Amino acid sequence: MAKMKRLQSVAIANRGEVAVRIIHACHELGLRTVLLHSEADVQTRAYRMADTRICIGPAATAESYLSIERNVNGALAGKADAVHPGFGFLSENAAFAQAVMDAGLLFVGPKPESIRAVGDKIAAKKTIASAKAPSVPGYMGEDQRIETLVEEAAKIGFPVIVKAAAGGGGRGMKVIRSRAEAVDQISSAQREGLSAFGSSVVFLEKYLDRAKHIEFQIFGDASGDVSYLLERECSVQRRHQKIIEEALSATLTPELRKAMGETAVRLAQSAGYEGAGTVEFLLQDGNFYFLEMNTRLQVEHPVTEMVLGVDLVKAQILNAAKEFRVWPQESIVPHGHAIEARIYAENPYAGGIPSMGKILGVKWPDGPGRRFETGIDSGDEITSFYDPMIAKVIVWDETRLRAIKKLKTTLSQSLVLGVHTNIPFVKEMISHPEFIDASMTTQFVEKYFSEGLRPRERSATELEFQKRALDVVSNEGAADAGTSLAASRTATATWFSGAGSAGPSSSGWSNT
Ligand code: ADP
Repeated sequence: MAKMKRLQSVAIANRGEVAVRIIHACHELGLRTVLLHSEADVQTRAYRMADTRICIGPAATAESYLSIERNVNGALAGKADAVHPGFGFLSENAAFAQAVMDAGLLFVGPKPESIRAVGDKIAAKKTIASAKAPSVPGYMGEDQRIETLVEEAAKIGFPVIVKAAAGGGGRGMKVIRSRAEAVDQISSAQREGLSAFGSSVVFLEKYLDRAKHIEFQIFGDASGDVSYLLERECSVQRRHQKIIEEALSATLTPELRKAMGETAVRLAQSAGYEGAGTVEFLLQDGNFYFLEMNTRLQVEHPVTEMVLGVDLVKAQILNAAKEFRVWPQESIVPHGHAIEARIYAENPYAGGIPSMGKILGVKWPDGPGRRFETGIDSGDEITSFYDPMIAKVIVWDETRLRAIKKLKTTLSQSLVLGVHTNIPFVKEMISHPEFIDASMTTQFVEKYFSEGLRPRERSATELEFQKRALDVVSNEGAADAGTSLAASRTATATWFSGAGSAGPSSSGWSNT
């Protein structure tokens, strides 16, 4: 393709699988990539793929991935024209977007003033109220005295959820079930807000205890047009963090879809929003309530890409270069069903505690309608510095049931040696009747899997699969893993995570 006039190289202010995703998009567009990385991220897939690498600081995020100055200086040193912030870290930081622009670079994301208007949880709720859209009833007042907050919580009626205004990623949030626990829960949210996000300001919402999480992908271009790219359902969450996401939601009627999508577009337009964004709602008893807007690419964007046949990351970059017109609303037509599972390095048999160490072998099984997004390969190290999400496994098929089956088979054939992963846990969850009939709410994990998984004996099939998988890995690259086969064999005995009996379990499968 012809080179873009304003943009020939993109700096990536992020790490892990999203950095890899952005590098792919840049290379497909013929753009040079500049990876802004920490000292701890030298042995990663993104590092190996980037054209230019700039070390911006030590492992500690405050001195590298969260430092505005170091990222901007790194982008300038790498002679980048633009900065893509990925998700997490500085991706929703208006001051970072501004600093990037002040340095004469393009920011791949919305304008700083749009981030301020809709990215801040309290500001967004005020904006949406003026757009006459429903949000969860609550208290967002400036009076932050504990007695006021307790009184306001009682007025809303328990259960109530208290949230750190600056919070995110499920942190800084506590459910208050009764007046007796109000003081403790509110103070705890204030403390968490202060330590993790630098602000103790909190707000209160009625806690909806049988809701689904439904979010709408929106995209705005420089001409002011905004379309909604339909929804994703992300009700399978643990501690308010998503684990499994899908597109579309089996629950929405066309009328509800339209009403929610148009609400999302109104919110975006009220802020002159450009680029990719996500408007999150809770849906309970047929009513939807605005939750928050994320002013960035979302972790679960691949499921939208797969059902709509779009590339959101390339669209973001082209849009930053002012060479993009958003897909007209009427052209957005879904095909089939996509599901994503987030793969974490954690021990599902021990309450999900993070699992660190060297990856001794990894195998993602190719096949039609399968997509693997990861930032690690054999020989790389999982450390405690960063989020333990090591990969996303995404599948597409013509129907939801087929997609569930395909995800289960794909996970059964996936192999990660060296650390525990949540793969067995995901397989259990997607086999649960409430997931299969799509009636799950955000209480699903807590209700059925509050203890995670119970340790169990491995079946003969599993052990056989494990042996075969090991043979494959050892034939194809135990040497790459920088470890002897003997070491990987020993490690596998304890650290095996992927394989299990492939195919349907007895719990509720039906023909597709
Ligand atoms: P974060 O920014 O940390 O992701 P959100 O406000 O998006 O926080 O909420 C994350 C999740 O927490 C939601 O998907 C939902 O499961 C739960 N949650 C948040 N607010 C409420 C509420 N008022 N009632 C019930 N669940 C809620």
